[in-house]
Amino acid sequence: MGFADWPAGPAAAQRSGDASHPGHDHAVQFYESPEYLSAVVADFVIDGLARGDSAVIIATGKHAADFSRALRDRGVDVEAVRKAARLTLLPASETLSRFMTAAVPDTRAFDSFIGKVINRARRASTSGAVRAYGEMVDVLWRVGNREGAIALEQLWNGLEHRGAFSLLCAYSLKRFSHANDFEQFRRICDQHSRVLPSENFSTRDEAGRMLEVALLQQRAKALESELADRAALTEELRQTAQRERESRSIAERERLEAERARAEAEAARRVAEEANRAKGDFLAVMSHELRTPLNAIGGYTELIELGIHGPVTPEQREALDRVQRSKRLLLGLINQVLNYARIETGAVRYEMGDVVLDEVLVNCGSIIAPQLRAQGLAFRYSGCDKWLTVRADQEKLEQVILNLLANAVKFTERGGTVSVDVDATPSHATIRVRDTGIGIARDRLGLIFDPFVQVDAQYTRTRDGVGLGLAISRDLTSGMDGELTVSSEVGKGSEFAVTLRR
Ligand code: ADP
Repeated sequence: MGFADWPAGPAAAQRSGDASHPGHDHAVQFYESPEYLSAVVADFVIDGLARGDSAVIIATGKHAADFSRALRDRGVDVEAVRKAARLTLLPASETLSRFMTAAVPDTRAFDSFIGKVINRARRASTSGAVRAYGEMVDVLWRVGNREGAIALEQLWNGLEHRGAFSLLCAYSLKRFSHANDFEQFRRICDQHSRVLPSENFSTRDEAGRMLEVALLQQRAKALESELADRAALTEELRQTAQRERESRSIAERERLEAERARAEAEAARRVAEEANRAKGDFLAVMSHELRTPLNAIGGYTELIELGIHGPVTPEQREALDRVQRSKRLLLGLINQVLNYARIETGAVRYEMGDVVLDEVLVNCGSIIAPQLRAQGLAFRYSGCDKWLTVRADQEKLEQVILNLLANAVKFTERGGTVSVDVDATPSHATIRVRDTGIGIARDRLGLIFDPFVQVDAQYTRTRDGVGLGLAISRDLTSGMDGELTVSSEVGKGSEFAVTLRR
């Protein structure tokens, strides 16, 4: 029992080896059961009385009764020693109220009140020594006033230094049952010159204590590593939660971004559609407005040519002929612009069917024949399987082939050749329109399908066209789920290939 080691009075405190504070003994007893506490306090008091010391007990009501009973059980005539002032019993809460101001103890009030109590006890002693037991700090600790308790411990220390007496404090171990109580527990221990472990330890013999220390050490290690594991787990959870929050916010940002992009694209599409419709409407109206006076120009020119308004001289006839040619050219351009506008606005309907390719090509060949002859060009069509069909709108396919043939004629010098070949795979057929003409520079090849692009405006100026033929042809081909491509070499000729599904 802790009592066995108890240094009786200042002399014993010196024996106990507290070299830094001779005569100073401030011990703390941790306990688990009130019975053990009673026994310790009774031993502490009885041992003191036996040495001629006086004792002061400042305890809570319930403990005070327990201690008195324990003393009586051990044969102490409590009333007699109290009367002789060898034993002073004070209630903890009332005593605290003598010097506590708000949450902290007042030094002067403490020194004065407790000092008087100690001196009175000292006067009654025969040894001149006093031993005091107090549990006011435990009361403060229990109500959560930890700073107040530490401050009070310090005051006890101060008082004890001045008027040497031994002091015993007690704390219930259950006040420190959490892992994070360690620092506070340490602070309490640091306030005392001796720390007495609870009954689990103090009631054992030497071998038992060693075993207990070893077991406690193992348990502390295990707890420490469990705490570390727990801290790591908590940190991991925190990081996972953080990552989840972050990824949620990234996903949310991405979703909002995608939504915004979709909304913008949708708005842009609507604007483009609106603009396209407006352009189509404009071109349709303009074309109509231009065609009417053009037809009037043609009609009246024809009347003059027919001599309705009098005889026509050969010079006048030639001039009228030019007027008619220019009118036709202009009408052709207007029709092309209108055509393009209609395709662009998606107003064109495709009547898809199985189109016999040979028929289309023979037909186009005969339509283009007069121009070929006029330009002095040879035409070669090697023919193809009479049963070969492609998925197309026949009229539109003819329009595309005729446009390619017309370009071949336009851009091939007299004496050259224009040829048409077909090759087929099980799934597709390709029509190649070749010429031995001027060709197209490599860096311009990518542009010729854009509307209003003419590779050599100067060269083209002598020929019809506004640079819409290929744009229209590519649109029509892709409208039939096909592809129009080009390969060419300047000075050697060009090859336009239309590939369609079979
Ligand atoms: P256009 O013939 O009305 O100018 P196109 O869209 O049909 O317009 O052709 C665009 C341009 O591509 C032509 O102006 C010409 O420079 C070039 N091009 C088209 N076909 C050929 C060809 N067979 N040989 C050389 N250049 C060509």
